[in-house]
Amino acid sequence: MQLILSCHNVMVDFSGFKALQGVDLQVQNGEILFLIGPNGAGKTTLLDVICGKTKSTNGEVLFNERISLTKLPEQKIVHEGVARKFQAPSIFLQLTPFEILEIAMKQKKGLFSILIAKMSKAQQEKIELLLKKINLYDVRNDLAGSLAHGQKQWLEIGMQLIQEPKLLLLDEPIAGMSGEERTKTGELIKEIAKTCSVLIVEHDMDFVRKFSTRVVVMHEGRVLCEGTMEEIKENEEVKNVYLGRSG
Ligand code: ADP
Repeated sequence: MQLILSCHNVMVDFSGFKALQGVDLQVQNGEILFLIGPNGAGKTTLLDVICGKTKSTNGEVLFNERISLTKLPEQKIVHEGVARKFQAPSIFLQLTPFEILEIAMKQKKGLFSILIAKMSKAQQEKIELLLKKINLYDVRNDLAGSLAHGQKQWLEIGMQLIQEPKLLLLDEPIAGMSGEERTKTGELIKEIAKTCSVLIVEHDMDFVRKFSTRVVVMHEGRVLCEGTMEEIKENEEVKNVYLGRSG
């Protein structure tokens, strides 16, 4: 079994507050792994450490079994193939989905490329394929500002996918979505996992139940347990700290 990511004893100390107290977590190649746990458990902090937004005070994050991400700057981590979709929207509302993906694609090569470089036919086709995958082909020439909430979220996911990452980090991807949008997002994540591992922080247990193969439960800056949804449902500690409390 090949690991795309392994976290060893990761600790984060925010001026004396221990948000992560020695996290060990592994993501297998091609896996969709859900990270759950009550508010304040440290889930978002862990994603922040993996993508380099927050530096760990101790421990190591290994990517693809050989690259240590712990000391790398954020941009280098992106270049290695780790993509992070944040919850806060970042799309330009006055551009179309096609234009936004074009910019996202050229971004890797810098500002000059964004302003000047012409797209090749192959690049255009790549964007069109991606637009189909994220359910936005029919609205590819509409203004992003006119898109529905779910469509904007898919566009944000598309902006990450155009860089062809090997690991995609998602923080509550279905927040605020309708039932149909949630289902389509789950299907999209399954499709993404054919070429890219996905680590998802999620609160919606129905969604986790439907689309997870393996779940990791965090509590107070540590991994409490991991397994299938069926397995963790039976874990007494999980019942106490999380599922029992939330119903
Ligand atoms: P979760 O995503 O599981 O809800 P977080 O990772 O957001 O949890 O937060 C874990 C803990 O760390 C919380 O108690 C939160 O208040 C604290 N925390 C997060 N970011 C910071 C920060 N920048 N400074 C101080 N404390 C923080």
